[in-house]
Amino acid sequence: MTKPLVALLTGAGVSTDSGIPDYRGPDGLWRRDPEAEKLVTYEYYMGDPEIRRRSWQMRRRMGNLAAEPNAAHRAVVGLERSGVPVRVITQNVDGLHQRAGLPARKVVELHGSARGVVCTRCHARGPMEDALARLDAGEDDPPCLVCGGILKPATVMFGERLDPAVLGEAVSITQACQVFIAVGSSLQVHPAAGLAEVAADHGARLIIVNAEPTPYDEIADEVIREPIGTALPAVLGQLDGAHEGGRPGVA
Ligand code: ZN
Repeated sequence: MTKPLVALLTGAGVSTDSGIPDYRGPDGLWRRDPEAEKLVTYEYYMGDPEIRRRSWQMRRRMGNLAAEPNAAHRAVVGLERSGVPVRVITQNVDGLHQRAGLPARKVVELHGSARGVVCTRCHARGPMEDALARLDAGEDDPPCLVCGGILKPATVMFGERLDPAVLGEAVSITQACQVFIAVGSSLQVHPAAGLAEVAADHGARLIIVNAEPTPYDEIADEVIREPIGTALPAVLGQLDGAHEGGRPGVA
């Protein structure tokens, strides 16, 4: 029996157990605080050095680089190591899927990564921790070390478009998979949310794991409202068992 390609679309809910709140979702912290939202809005960031200084200070305080993966991230790694082809499309920027042990090439980061920085002029990239070390050393708006341009987190800010190549890869995976699991995402932010429909249109089994109802629950084959930390390992355990001779595994 051919092993099915399993695609997961992961949202903020997957990282909540790692202590990372929902920042950028429709009800996220940034959306509820206009001043905070400016710090992660491209136009303000590029146009105002004071916004940049506050934005870097916020990065420094967030401390998210130290967050550890949780049971949901580990369950995805477990499925991948069992031999099932797995791809993760994530709305998260925390890098916790990779930190849990999933190969980076199997993770599509729709909104970029808060673990990196990128120059807005020459596009040189580097680790966020190096930029934060420069803040610790006294810089308040560290410029690109290559060209002197404005440096920003390697995340997609509000007002920025998703990278078309990244989105294209996400769509290709979605069209190719046999099982599509949307987990911890409100499925309200496009184009990520629309991937659920693309998956269903292409005949994938659509499973939604989320605390709250989503706009795609009606077209889903299965909707699970249990806590992600227990629900996702159980769902993935069954997929793992299904190709090992039809015995549903219990994670
Ligand atoms: Zn540069």
